[in-house]
Amino acid sequence: MAGALSVAVVGAGWAGLAAAVEAMRAGHAVTLYEMAEQPGGRAREVRHDGLALDNGQHILIGAYTQTLRLMRAVGVDPEAVLLRTPLRLSEPDGRGLHLPPGPPTLAFARGVWRREGWRAGERLALLRAAGGWALRGFRCDAALTVAELTRTLPAAIRRDLVEPLCVAALNTPAGEASAAVFLRVLRDALFSGPGSADLLLPRASLGDLFPAPALAWLKARGAALELSTRVQAIERAGEGWRIDGTRFDAVVLATPPGEAARLSAAIAPAWSAGAAALRYEPIVTVYLDAGATRLPEPMLALPAGPRAPAQFVFDRGQLGGPRGLLAFVISGAQPWVDAGREATLAATLAQARAALGPLLRGEPRPLQSITEKRATFRCVPGLARPVMQLAPGLVAAGDHVAGPYPATLEGAVRSAVAAVAAVSTSSPAASPAVISG
Ligand SMILES: Cc1cc2nc3c(=O)[nH]c(=O)nc-3n(C[C@H](O)[C@H](O)[C@H](O)COP(=O)(O)OP(=O)(O)OC[C@H]3O[C@@H](n4cnc5c(N)ncnc54)[C@H](O)[C@@H]3O)c2cc1C
Repeated sequence: MAGALSVAVVGAGWAGLAAAVEAMRAGHAVTLYEMAEQPGGRAREVRHDGLALDNGQHILIGAYTQTLRLMRAVGVDPEAVLLRTPLRLSEPDGRGLHLPPGPPTLAFARGVWRREGWRAGERLALLRAAGGWALRGFRCDAALTVAELTRTLPAAIRRDLVEPLCVAALNTPAGEASAAVFLRVLRDALFSGPGSADLLLPRASLGDLFPAPALAWLKARGAALELSTRVQAIERAGEGWRIDGTRFDAVVLATPPGEAARLSAAIAPAWSAGAAALRYEPIVTVYLDAGATRLPEPMLALPAGPRAPAQFVFDRGQLGGPRGLLAFVISGAQPWVDAGREATLAATLAQARAALGPLLRGEPRPLQSITEKRATFRCVPGLARPVMQLAPGLVAAGDHVAGPYPATLEGAVRSAVAAVAAVSTSSPAASPAVISG
């Protein structure tokens, strides 16, 4: 282990919490700053009339190995708080891609072959394309968009699979999304170890999945927790750093990119400019109360289009919530943010009635609509994301930091793990003499 350092972590989203936990596990003295009253950042619980909702409906997948590891490290049993199923992208009529259990590549081939509603030629074209991507190691020209990568696939495959998968994983429409990142997600989800493509649907609030247990774990081990504290400035202090008057050996900057750009402007101007240049894509989550409705599955894919905003609906009644609570997820939501809240609610209600009609047991009623304007960065081809290292002993963590994944919980957590490993070994105060491996 490296020599014990005093480490400040700025931001208690999933990246900051993961960094704080990793730093404590590495033997460092940790101070965690968070400007909100509660931890979790974009993946946090919100309350509406006493009801636990999430800031946005989230899904995890089996390939989120670092996130699952850290959940366990703070005492959370992923099997208890997540509903694990083989990948299913079912539509309300029951059709869809259903991967059977088993080795992922074989499961994918069998799932595609059995998918109702696609002709044999369409299925073959998809399997041939997937085989080609695998042969090329899931790599492609960094300048390609997902639409360009898949342009020779039949329209039904693009409409039913590529477009919903792309907007769900990258939160960027296929016409603008990075094909290289899309292929990397496909590789890790569909074509790596057993269970990597499994869907893990939260059946507890997002706060109980990691943020609240991580905070309790940190507190019990003596970390200094500074909630409701917005860090105003970071300055050099000899070989270390000073945060609003307090000196630290190392700092993990785990705020979203805009705030990281502000805090680093005088220290690392080029890095700051790169972080400030990122562009964002919104996600809107519309919660409806649909009476006694129980959907055939906890998650259904919906045909989305110019009048139908949501790509997915979640039956929270099957996920630990009250019966009939439905969460409609609108990714790549800029057109709907432009259209306004009322128009989005009305269109989602109309979509719910049209797509779920015979499944509804009660007239759907709007409960809450949550718009995250800066839900994720726009994952476009050739995007230069900010790198981890800003200066000796000052590193960035978060879903925006350069890495193979789009903006996801796993991307955020992985960047945090890498950031703590970097400060442990390369901070000026981490004397190589005490590093024992
Ligand atoms: C609606 C929605 C749906 C999503 N769906 C999924 C999904 O299904 N699956 C998935 O994997 N990912 C999903 N994501 C993405 C995922 O939520 C993010 O990738 C992840 O939460 C980012 O974590 P982070 O720690 O990098 O950043 P954040 O969560 O933004 O955390 C940064 C923290 O820093 C704090 N902060 C900022 N400035 C300061 C300051 N000056 N001082 C102190 N604290 C500060 C903030 O308050 C915040 O708590 C979704 C995101 C949204 C918004």
